[in-house]
Amino acid sequence: MEFRPSGRTVVITGAGISAPSGIATYRAGGSSWTDPRLESISQASRYGNHLPELWTHWGQLKRTMKDAVPNPAHLALAEAQLAAEAAGGSLIVATQNIDALHARAGSTTVVELHGSLFRSRCIRKTCIAPFEDDTIPEAGEVPRCEKCGRPLRPDVVLFGEILSSGMLRRLEEQLEAADLCVYIGTSGEVWPVSDLVMVAARKGARCVLINAEPWEHPHPSFHETVIGPAEELVPGLFAV
Ligand code: NAD
Repeated sequence: MEFRPSGRTVVITGAGISAPSGIATYRAGGSSWTDPRLESISQASRYGNHLPELWTHWGQLKRTMKDAVPNPAHLALAEAQLAAEAAGGSLIVATQNIDALHARAGSTTVVELHGSLFRSRCIRKTCIAPFEDDTIPEAGEVPRCEKCGRPLRPDVVLFGEILSSGMLRRLEEQLEAADLCVYIGTSGEVWPVSDLVMVAARKGARCVLINAEPWEHPHPSFHETVIGPAEELVPGLFAV
């Protein structure tokens, strides 16, 4: 893989890039992500009836993510963005992660496909704009909207909710203009990440997958796959 700072690069990351920072991946056994009860009450149609239980879970997750620190892969991408911009190119990170670690590493062009656990909003979507929020409520406590008193919720995409179409359209435009598209630490099982590589490949970008293991369902749009830990590979592959 050759990273050219003067080129246009889009990086798409998943839970694997944050695993070395101590945050469990979705598919790693035993993590809360696949707890059937949590999955069931996190549905868009029913989460409002389970807010004390959900906020206890979101609070624990927020604590783990707040205590985590960006690892060499996050940091290398932030440095590569600076190098790209200095050379007249660009590097955008689109992430499925909700842990804010790319931003904390210094990346400033981050597309948060599934939102951020470190932003909250009123459950009435039109009430107030989502706001930065790193507070962690006590177990069982439900934080309230300052404006209307209704419960708050994290600004993340819950099961059964749709991603912003404007955000996706802008990302597709970036992928169409890219000359390099790199997936890092994702199983590629979740839409739209499962399909976005096609958008880049169709317009001629070189597409590379960096992952700890080969994909269960390999995607023909990738030209190259590099197997290994992101925290070791990414600093070398994005060296400037
Ligand atoms: P996933 O769990 O499906 O896949 C993670 C992939 O990362 C696996 O293929 C694994 O082999 C690989 N991996 C593990 N450690 C790695 C390492 N050190 N270096 C490189 N690769 C490594 O995750 P996904 O594809 O991101 O989908 C999971 C969904 O769950 C997403 O929708 C996301 O929003 C959510 N999630 C977020 C976080 C987070 O915010 N950190 C964590 C878990 C899940």
